[in-house]
Amino acid sequence: MSDKKLECPECAGSVELKADTMEGEIVQCGDCGVELEVTKGDSAFALQPAPEEEEDWGE
Ligand SMILES: [Zn+2]
Repeated sequence: MSDKKLECPECAGSVELKADTMEGEIVQCGDCGVELEVTKGDSAFALQPAPEEEEDWGE
């Protein structure tokens, strides 16, 4: 099984996906640490920035 490598949309670094990565999973970029959601296009996976969890900082 070959590794899947995708480009991080934030820092253009390469993000490695596990062989069993599925659509909708959240992966983290090893370079910039951003969380990315795995989406599936026509034939390949793609990455998009994951929606940030709402954090209550109490303002
Ligand atoms: Zn990155």
